[in-house]
Parts: sequence; structure tokens; C-alpha cells
Amino acid sequence: MSYDFDLFVIGGGSAGVRCARIAAGYGARVGVAEERFWGGTCVNVGCVPKKLMVMAAEYGSSAADARGFGWDGAQGTHDWARLIANKDAEIARLNGIYVKLLNGAGAKVFESRATFLDAHTLQVGDRVVTAERIVIATGGRPHVPGFAGSEHCIISDAAFYLPERPQRVVMLGGGYIALEFATIFNGLGSHVDVVMRQPLPLRGFDEDIRAATAEALTAAGMTLHAGVTPMGVEANGAAKRLHLSDGRVLDADLVFAAIGRVPNTEGLRLDAAGVATGRGGAVAVDDQGRTSVAHIYAIGDVTDRLNLTPVAIAEGHSLADRLFGPGPRHWDLHRVATAVFCSPPIATVGLTEAQAAKRGTVDVYVSRFTPMRHTLTGRARKTLMKLIVDQATQKVVGAHMLGEDAPEIMQGLSIAINCGATKQDFDRTVGIHPTAAEEFVTLRTRTRETAMLPEGEMGAAEAGLGG
Ligand code: FAD
Ligand code: NDP
Repeated sequence: MSYDFDLFVIGGGSAGVRCARIAAGYGARVGVAEERFWGGTCVNVGCVPKKLMVMAAEYGSSAADARGFGWDGAQGTHDWARLIANKDAEIARLNGIYVKLLNGAGAKVFESRATFLDAHTLQVGDRVVTAERIVIATGGRPHVPGFAGSEHCIISDAAFYLPERPQRVVMLGGGYIALEFATIFNGLGSHVDVVMRQPLPLRGFDEDIRAATAEALTAAGMTLHAGVTPMGVEANGAAKRLHLSDGRVLDADLVFAAIGRVPNTEGLRLDAAGVATGRGGAVAVDDQGRTSVAHIYAIGDVTDRLNLTPVAIAEGHSLADRLFGPGPRHWDLHRVATAVFCSPPIATVGLTEAQAAKRGTVDVYVSRFTPMRHTLTGRARKTLMKLIVDQATQKVVGAHMLGEDAPEIMQGLSIAINCGATKQDFDRTVGIHPTAAEEFVTLRTRTRETAMLPEGEMGAAEAGLGG
């Protein structure tokens, strides 16, 4: 049977655009449908605008910091509307680039929603198209809380388009989005309360990093409410009141729910194609991105594995290579570095101390210091760096950092760790002075050794973090 397309990609986000573009570049007849915005979450309501807003927030303390270096001058006021307009212009530019890339590669673009009619047929807007292979790359969307009054909360999509900056913000959640936006609003001058159900933010991250993060957020002026769950929101005009599980209330102008994301599979009519879903509606795939139907694939956040843009891109590229190119390019998706762009930022690659200790005894190296810049600014800001070394092989199995430039530093370290570098390799590397990064190659004295402690039992106290 002949089909309209060799490959049809549903979703024009990080995963879908890369897959469609590379496949079309190999000469495949490719169609791609996007119902909302080219570039998807990352470009429009994720990584890119978020990072621009984090940058805006970081200028908030620059005038005060500069005083220690001899500069005088009052802190100016912040124009929220100008920030949003400038951010929007940049995003519009990027949207255009994505469409140009697809067209340039020879893919046929459809600016409409696609849904399954059967395993080879899709309804795309008002057209019906057939394809030999189909890729589901529909991403995810914010999880909306189930409590009473949740309609009075906003989710991250809306945070990028607020008409003005709220003065009092209550952030629900202690994960990536909660901390990044807490930083944005705090840096721009809002009062921020962070409500999280764990004792510390960032469940799953190294315990020392979690403890240092809580300290850093508090030092920056945010109020953390740990171990509590949001129960409901009341609205009285513009004013909101959040009820907490411990009976307390928090008053705010904005309640921001950042409590995770769910895969975008609703309404896709996966049942019409016989595609199976798993936990939370995620499309179930094998390690080659194949769904329960042999010629239908799923990539990116819709599979709810490692929900990061570079992973979505790697999956899209790899799939196109495998289907139409010389064979799949290899990406190591087991040790992916990741960063939380709060302030100061956090970055990590490999195992946490607890994860590594479950596999065998580890040598742990921890350093905590005041970064050089803040010896003159006087700002209470600490950097934490940590290496986890497998004692038997001396391989560095995890690196963690909280501090300025942590994501930039961790990108380089992740290459070394993915290459299997040992502690001796780190030690024989000559540092760049004076930098914070050089600390990673001068960690001479082991802080402790750790073996087989169950996750959650280690923390700042045992790390001996005193500042
Ligand atoms: P998406 O980018 O979500 O793309 C899916 C696309 O499919 C969307 O454009 C959607 O409109 C479209 N679509 C859905 N259904 C249909 C349909 N039926 N028909 C047609 N089109 C459809 N990751 C990082 O690595 N670094 C970061 O700093 C970072 N920051 C983030 C900040 C925020 C606030 C958020 C929400 C996420 C962030 N992420 C970050 C995660 C990152 O954005 C995602 O991992 C990435 O966008 C996933 O790409 P994707 O292609 O799988 O999905
Ligand atoms: P996360 O999974 O990072 O965090 C969700 C937070 O919400 C956790 O603190 C979780 O608590 C809490 N939570 C979940 N359900 C409830 C509930 N019912 N009531 C109260 N609290 C709840 O999700 P995000 O939404 O922050 O981000 C989604 C994903 O997007 C991230 O996991 C990441 O993959 C990606 N992302 C990446 C970024 C980056 O690379 N810098 C930035 C932003 C997003 P608990 O720990 O108890 O479950």
C-alpha cells in the first residue's frame, strides 16, 4: 500500500522538530503537525523564556552587589511589561527559525491538531492523511491540582504572560519549576512563600544539595513551608488565600501550582490505533522508542521518562537516524547532566551519595565556601561542590554543585564522568585560577566514606557542612 508520507510526526516541539527535520534531510517524505506553537514547550513556555526571566531576576541584586566593588548608584525599578515584550519578541524569532528549518529540510508542515483515525491514518485539521510510520511527540502539560479552588491557581504556561508582577506569590511544589519561578519572582522583588510536602526541596537530588538549596532560598529572602500539603484556595477579588494541611493560611496575589507535568495523550485517540499507555497516560515504549504498535513510535516528554529538552532532541534525532539514516547515533541517556536554574543554580550528573552507596562503598568529597565575588559584596551566598567516588574503582560516579555557574561547569564535568574519569584523573588535572570550578580538581581530602545507607538518611549534618 502507498501512503501519503513515509513518516508523520505529531507535535512540533523539541523531539518532533528534530525527528522530522533529520528524517526529511535523509530524503524521507515527512509531515509534521503542530497545534499550538513551533518549538513546543521549551521554546515557548519552558527552558528559553524561563532562562531569560531568571537572567532578569539576577540583575535585581546587581546594584547592591556592585557597591562592595566601589560602584555607587541606586537600584533602578523593574519594568515587567518590557521584560515580557522583549521575551515575546525573542520567542517569535525562534518560532520562525523552527518553521524555516522544517521547510528547509523538505518536511510538510501542518499548523493544526492531529488525532488518530487508525494505525496508519490521521485526522490533521480538516485533512485526512496516511503514513507508513507515525511518531507521537506531543509532550506534556502542567498538572492542575485537584483541591477546591484550584481554578484560582495559575500554572507555568500562564506565568510567562502575566500582565504585571504579583507582589505576594505562593509557590506550590518543591521541584524544578517551583524553585526556578520562586527565584524569578523573588529576584524581581516579590515576596515568595514556597509550599512543599517534603522536608526539603528537590526530592531525588543529593541530600547535601537539597539541604544547601533550602538554606540558599531562605538566605535570599524566601519563606519555605516544608512538610505541608495545599488543601484549597479561596479568592476574594484579586486576593487569594491558601489553606495548608497544618491548618495555617497564606495570603497572596498569586498562587502558582508547580506540582509536576502529565503526558499529553488526552484526545489523541490512541485507542483508535491500538497504542498502549502506561503510568499517568504516558505512551509506553521500549528502548528504541517503539510503542505497542510496530510502526508507531513515541519520543520526548509524552513517554514521561527523563523530561528534558536535550533528551527529547536526542531521542528524535536517534529515531530518524535509525529509520532513514545510517543507523542510530549513540547518546548515553543513563548519566544525563541536569540543572535547576534557581539562584544560585544547581547542577548535577551521575549518582547521588545515597544511590552510589547502595552499590558499594564510596569516597565522598565535599567543599563549601563563599565564592570570591561575595567576599566583597557581603551577600550571604555559599557554593557547595561534591564528588562521589566509587571506592573500588576510584571512578567518579557523581558530581553535584550549588553555586554560581554550576550548569556551565557541570557540562564539562559530565564529559569526564561519561568517559569514566577516576579521582586520580581529576587530581592530575591542573586547575584554572582563580575560579570556583578549580575546586573540583583540588578536592584532596576525603570528607567521609559511605556504605549502604538507605536513601534519605544522609544529610547536611553528617556532611559536616558548617560553612
Ligand atoms: P513539547 O516541547 O511539549 O512539544 C510537544 C508539542 O506537541 C507541543 O508544541 C504541543 O503543542 C504539540 N501537540 C500536542 N498534541 C498535539 C496534537 N494532537 N497535534 C499537534 N500538535 C500537538 N528542560 C530542559 O532541558 N532545560 C530547562 O531549562 C527546562 N526548563 C523548563 C521549564 C518549564 C517551565 C517547563 C514546563 C519545562 C522545562 N523543561 C526544561 C522541559 C522541556 O521543556 C521538555 O522536556 C521538552 O520541551 C520536551 O519536548 P517534547 O518535544 O517532548 O514536548
Ligand atoms: P517536578 O517533578 O520537578 O516537581 C513537582 C513538585 O510538585 C514536587 O516537589 C512534588 O512533591 C510536588 N507535588 C506533586 N504532586 C503534588 C501534590 N498533589 N500536592 C503537592 N505537591 C505536589 O515537576 P515540575 O512541575 O517542577 O517540572 C516537571 C518536569 O519538567 C521536571 O521534572 C523536569 O523534568 C522538567 N523541567 C526541567 C527543568 C530544567 O531542566 N531546568 C525546568 C523545569 C522543568 P514530591 O517531591 O513530594 O513528589
